[in-house]
Amino acid sequence: MNSTIPIGSPVRTQAIINQYFVRAKKALGQNFLVDLDAILGIVRAADIHEGDQVIEVGPGIGSLTEQLLLAGAKVFAYEVDDSLADILEQELPSKVNGQPIKQRFELMMKDILKADFKSDLDGFFDLTKPIKVVANLPYYITTPIIFFLNESSLKFTSLTLMMQKEVAERLGAAPGSKAYGPLSIAVQIEMNVKVALTVESSSFIPRPHVDSDVVVLTPLVNKPDVGDTKHFDWVVKMCFAQRRKTLNNNLKSLVPDAAKRAALITSLGVDPRIRPERLTIAQFIQIAQSVPVKHD
Ligand code: SAM
Repeated sequence: MNSTIPIGSPVRTQAIINQYFVRAKKALGQNFLVDLDAILGIVRAADIHEGDQVIEVGPGIGSLTEQLLLAGAKVFAYEVDDSLADILEQELPSKVNGQPIKQRFELMMKDILKADFKSDLDGFFDLTKPIKVVANLPYYITTPIIFFLNESSLKFTSLTLMMQKEVAERLGAAPGSKAYGPLSIAVQIEMNVKVALTVESSSFIPRPHVDSDVVVLTPLVNKPDVGDTKHFDWVVKMCFAQRRKTLNNNLKSLVPDAAKRAALITSLGVDPRIRPERLTIAQFIQIAQSVPVKHD
């Protein structure tokens, strides 16, 4: 059925659920958005314009997909639940802005973490042009997806992602805050993090246990030089190994010699009793530079 009522309205979503006997699969992180304001908020946060090339992770029954299409995007979607393919085909509009849907939307039944963007998108997207990623993420793989996208060959201009509030807070956390840790640092050395909007759990069917944030991640123009990223991430993790302990304590495994450790802490210009969560990214870079790279 192609209806004038948006898929993302509670009444249309419920009708689709009833018609196709949809049972949200918890294991696939299925929480369908039924709040048009929130959906349009995501589209606005992603700054979608006519002709934008958008990758969507997990279109579900198409509530966000439909609004991305209506805003002018060409959408390539990855989905793993086979039962949704038919629903998307039946329920998404057959024409968008005068063009047949086939020219504007392609669905690939594939785990996003197995995506090979060059070959998957070839022929549908112009790979020389900017690509945005937009998703109401399956929450069970939020961070693997962010890291996969960041490490992939995809030259995205932005990632606009709905995720659990708690993860969003960790991504954007500043030194000194409770949420600041290895995840904040790993993301902030690569991308700018902006929380665009908060979405209450009542905006989904079924309701998740937590509220959500929509986060916009954009690649940094001038990335800090962290040297070997694997080494840097490892050093940061070791520094946070015991969060409630002092930096001096956490550094013992990295710099066993007490005098060398004291010299390193002095060179950072901080009190040895400082906790790791108070250190800036620049200070972690300094620590990583003074610790020998371990080869595995
Ligand atoms: N976009 C829809 C919405 O906003 O209502 C559905 C979002 S739901 C939170 C997450 C979607 O991701 C589901 O449709 C789920 O089947 C899909 N999904 C789960 N794991 C996936 C994976 N590894 N790769 C691609 N899609 C996945």
